[in-house]
Amino acid sequence: MSPDDVTIVEVGPRDGLQNEPNHVSTERKIAFIEALADAGHRRIEATAFVHPKVIPQLADADVVASRLPEREGVTYTALVPNDHGVARARKTGISQWAVFTAASETFNQKNIKASIDESFARFASVLEAARECGRTVRGYCSTILHCPYEGRIDPSLTVSVVRRLIDVGCEEVSLGETIGRGTPGEIRDLCGRLAVEGVLDRCAVHFHDTYGMGCANALAAYELGVRTFDASAGGLGGCPYAPGAAGNTATEDLIFMFNGMGVKTGVDLEAQVAASLLMEEALGHTLPSHTYRALRGRGQGPKPDHLEMS
Ligand code: MG
Repeated sequence: MSPDDVTIVEVGPRDGLQNEPNHVSTERKIAFIEALADAGHRRIEATAFVHPKVIPQLADADVVASRLPEREGVTYTALVPNDHGVARARKTGISQWAVFTAASETFNQKNIKASIDESFARFASVLEAARECGRTVRGYCSTILHCPYEGRIDPSLTVSVVRRLIDVGCEEVSLGETIGRGTPGEIRDLCGRLAVEGVLDRCAVHFHDTYGMGCANALAAYELGVRTFDASAGGLGGCPYAPGAAGNTATEDLIFMFNGMGVKTGVDLEAQVAASLLMEEALGHTLPSHTYRALRGRGQGPKPDHLEMS
């Protein structure tokens, strides 16, 4: 892999599906994950070991985790928030566990009913169990720039939470721009601060397309040296803080952008679209990704010379 190449962490099966109200069967989830691995993904966030009442869509986590396609070089990740999650996750072959916190105290309270300190106390035993059984841990830091309750977040707070996640043993930290309000200048500023702190090379970015800034922000992060990008197939996921808005940055949009720049993602765009189509059919609604829709629309509708150009 060249230092210019990137890795996409496909979060559609977990982050994408958890906000989708229409139930998706276990069979379809497995077929979706297989199609994503076939498209070339090497990192897939597969499910979450949370209480079924919290995320009913992922109530089949144990079954999904036991049926993941075995592909050489593919790492599967699952959320493991607490000791109950550990008990379930250690029975599976999921090789990376993920824990959650946020740079905003209010967001943490509303999201996981814990202060930032309490969240670290809660997942200390997850990190210890992961070490014991040879799994790595990914830390998520939400609300890196903006919080739906507190507004703008002081970037030095975000840097301190990221530092802390790494110090307690997270192999990687995913920087969640939770509500998608951030713009490239803010991303540059935050990435610059994380580079000064010496932790940017351990960070992935997790952007949302609520305001259409997903790819612009990804490009800003790329230019500052970030090489790992979370994205979801077709832009699955929506935004619980902006009903009706687009969700996660779409995998297709990122691949299209990086392909155009000559930056390798290792994922085949056509095969990615085919994987997203499986989920679009399962959910029964159109997925928001621009690139996905452009490629799906080829050959349909009026010919270009019949279009009124404006
Ligand atoms: Mg997300």
